[in-house]
Amino acid sequence: MNIPLSSYPRIVIIGGGFGGVSLAKKLSKQEVQVVLIDKNNYHTFQPLLYQVSTGGLEPDSIAYPLRKVLIGYDNFYFRLAEVEHIDAASKKLNTSIGDITYDYLVVATGSETNFFGNAEIEKHAVAMKSIPQSLNLRSLILENFEQALLTDVYHERDALMNFVIVGGGPTGVELAGALAEIKKGILPKDYPDLDTRRAQINLVQGGDCLLPGFSPQASKKAEDFLEKLGVQVWKGVRVTGYNGKTVSTLTDLKFDSAAVVWAAGVKGAGIKGLDGEGVIAGGNRVNVNEFNQVIGHPEIFAIGDIACMATEDNPRGHPMVAQPAIQQGKLLGENLVRLIDNKPLKPFVYNDKGSMATIGRNKAVCDIKKFRFQGVFAWFVWMFVHLFFLIGFRNRMVVFINWVYNYIRFDREARLIIRPYNRDYSQFKD
Ligand SMILES: Cc1cc2nc3c(=O)[nH]c(=O)nc-3n(C[C@H](O)[C@H](O)[C@H](O)COP(=O)(O)OP(=O)(O)OC[C@H]3O[C@@H](n4cnc5c(N)ncnc54)[C@H](O)[C@@H]3O)c2cc1C
Repeated sequence: MNIPLSSYPRIVIIGGGFGGVSLAKKLSKQEVQVVLIDKNNYHTFQPLLYQVSTGGLEPDSIAYPLRKVLIGYDNFYFRLAEVEHIDAASKKLNTSIGDITYDYLVVATGSETNFFGNAEIEKHAVAMKSIPQSLNLRSLILENFEQALLTDVYHERDALMNFVIVGGGPTGVELAGALAEIKKGILPKDYPDLDTRRAQINLVQGGDCLLPGFSPQASKKAEDFLEKLGVQVWKGVRVTGYNGKTVSTLTDLKFDSAAVVWAAGVKGAGIKGLDGEGVIAGGNRVNVNEFNQVIGHPEIFAIGDIACMATEDNPRGHPMVAQPAIQQGKLLGENLVRLIDNKPLKPFVYNDKGSMATIGRNKAVCDIKKFRFQGVFAWFVWMFVHLFFLIGFRNRMVVFINWVYNYIRFDREARLIIRPYNRDYSQFKD
């Protein structure tokens, strides 16, 4: 990897997401050598992926170069590589560009889409966990309408304009709201020769409420907002399969659809080699103690989505959202220095700042500590918080200008098929 040996201890961080970046920043002035490894050369702001998928933002505005994060930091190295294996016994990583040894290792690899072992759904549905996947979805949405124009067979056309989003968490809710706004404001203008009123957005939720984990008021209001926007919300319906044409469920309900988005779950993005008794928790996360130390490996730490720190308040680990990752990264920065200085470590205590989701223009729900509010004010709070946590001044400015422009013009101009998705449409032709 061509990284010089140093008299300082070497800390290798796998993953430049919310956790990895906040840790790197915290270590910037310490007497350590830091190697940050990521399979992408950018940090992704995942909360706004759905806006890329629906043409509201360009992908570049929610990505930030990891090398730029490290500018000005001494003893910091970035390597673009995928870590394939952890050899804990010899404190070594095998990566796509070679091996590297470490004194301390921090696994901050986040999570990946969980298809719960259903290979058929994994093959045919699209996920929205990365920028390339969001661009695939954007192309698929637009290509489906281009195809719908080419047929005068009703049921074929309806299937091409029928969107099924599986999963009623924040991702599913936000995507459904954005698609409903496109249907109302953009499709009739873009496709005057197509009866876009027949387009359908179905949000299918296995549980009995949307936004589980939010307050009942937020959940109810989100559903009201979606129904007002014309989204069909199906609760208590478990999707069991999708063969590329028809979505089947545990009930009699079936949907013919050319675009199924799977937003029904995530699991830890684990790395081979990090195993052993008691290491892997439910959802493929890694069990850690209150200092984010991996059980049985005192020199290996895990933070963010991949880490499962069972506490009294969160017996199955903290929620897989940005705040635990950011807060754990910051504390681990302090703790690694304390560990090197032989000082006692500080335990992690999660400061739950609340949850929020936007459903569309002037519509959001916020549960912040004791305060629960919905509607226009919640929408402004949602926008402010997302701008605040975006990395980079340019990104904040670009996103802000886009939002103002979209708001005034009722528009989403990034509806471009830059990377064609090239779906096989033969199933939709009689
Ligand atoms: C669509 C969507 C919407 C979301 N909305 C919200 C929201 O509104 N609010 C909120 O708080 N949270 C939201 N989340 C969740 C939030 O983004 C995650 O909880 C957060 O990103 C976790 O941070 P992390 O540092 O653990 O991992 P990530 O931010 O996922 O970073 C992991 C990094 O590790 C890298 N990596 C993974 N494996 C390897 C490997 N083997 N080798 C090298 N590099 C590797 C990846 O490239 C990535 O850069 C959303 C997530 C999604 C997908």
